[in-house]
Amino acid sequence: MADAPVDKFWERPVETLNRDQWEALCDGCGNCCLHKLEDEDTGAVLRTNVACRLLDLKTARCSDYRHRRALVPDCLRLTPRLAAELPWLPVTCAYRLRADGDPLPAWHYLVCGDREEVHRAKISVVGRAISEVLAGPLEEHIVSEDGVMFDHDWDETDD
Ligand code: SF4
Repeated sequence: MADAPVDKFWERPVETLNRDQWEALCDGCGNCCLHKLEDEDTGAVLRTNVACRLLDLKTARCSDYRHRRALVPDCLRLTPRLAAELPWLPVTCAYRLRADGDPLPAWHYLVCGDREEVHRAKISVVGRAISEVLAGPLEEHIVSEDGVMFDHDWDETDD
């Protein structure tokens, strides 16, 4: 008997996905768990390499996903509408890509079958983030759009 065809739900319009399928889009990069600052003059969003205290810096996963919104009240639950509107989501974010109707990249685990590929492809925050518990002022940790640190070393990982 032939195998049942694989439901490539990640290629379907996001409005057709159930909650589990929507949640499964996350590539586990952890970039949305880095703090951001807003430029008072221009309103521009400035990225930092400072991570939420709940982020496990070795895996780029939330260490208490189930309770995160109780522990960190401003942690967002992404919806298709938010994913299409939030200007600070990284261009690689799977939610943003699918909300815009774009395909997932080759390194995404749903495409390649390997959850470690997001780290090997250097998309995730592993090796380039510091916990907010250790970081000090966010202004000293501003990074460029592609995550490169301004005037600071990259070696401030939390072991
Ligand atoms: S930026 Fe998007 S894909 Fe990456 S961890 Fe956050 S929600 Fe998931």
